[in-house]
Amino acid sequence: MRQHTHVLFVSVLLGICGGSLDFKVVDLTHDHSNTTIYWPGSPEYNFTILSRGKTAGGIWLEMNYFGTAEHAGTHLDSPAHFYKDRNRTHNVPLENLIGPGVIINVKNKAAMNADYQVSIDDLKQWESMYNKIPENAIVIMNSGWHEHYPNASLVFNTDSLTDPSTFHFPGWHEDTIEWLISERSVNVVGVDTPSTDFGQTQNFAVHISLGKANISGAENVANLDAIPESGSMIFVAVTKIYDGSGGPARIFATIPLRVTSFGWTYGPSFVLFLSALCVLIPVIAHLRQRAR
Ligand SMILES: [Zn+2]
Repeated sequence: MRQHTHVLFVSVLLGICGGSLDFKVVDLTHDHSNTTIYWPGSPEYNFTILSRGKTAGGIWLEMNYFGTAEHAGTHLDSPAHFYKDRNRTHNVPLENLIGPGVIINVKNKAAMNADYQVSIDDLKQWESMYNKIPENAIVIMNSGWHEHYPNASLVFNTDSLTDPSTFHFPGWHEDTIEWLISERSVNVVGVDTPSTDFGQTQNFAVHISLGKANISGAENVANLDAIPESGSMIFVAVTKIYDGSGGPARIFATIPLRVTSFGWTYGPSFVLFLSALCVLIPVIAHLRQRAR
């Protein structure tokens, strides 16, 4: 009879866990290819097929060579990019490349003004909806610009791709970055445009402030409409380039699926607790049975 009780209890727990252990993963990365957006002056992307076919032994083999600028497509700006003696790519701590996603939606403002710079008020508006920006956040501007990618003329919003003084795209305001650094704790500041500074910057004040504070940037982030403005966890998996000033990154978000098969809702720690129970209870029941 007691054994039946255990089986029933475990079945109920498995039923609860069964519908709920998942989280959704969303890719926030543009393909790295010969259409990748580069800052003007960078060498061209080089993708060379070394082998794509059957070897003499009849085995299928694919191998390629690729050469790319660090600051290309979806990528990380290491703090050293615009500030001396700050972290280069290989020594940015991995824990500084993970954090709660804070997505600042300025699509309407950017549609009206391509030179828009994210303001402190935009952050306060986010906080009025979702509470204080969480510790170690990854804060990314969603200006809607990722939809232009990879059309370089639209992304840089110019007829003269070799002349940065003609660029018009949105970015962060330097005052907003200073506020984020002094009033909140952030791991990465990102944009869906080619630069954390807006296109018309003369002094790259945002890059310099972030570098000075040893905070990384993320540029050309894709697909931001596919994640909630609050509640995701973002990962900036940059290639670990020794002494790099940045590097291509696979940026992605996880979104916990909190709804169980019964429609209950709860957070990830409760899922872990239930999972542990699912494992432990049959073991304890088994040990008790053997002890008898
Ligand atoms: Zn960059």
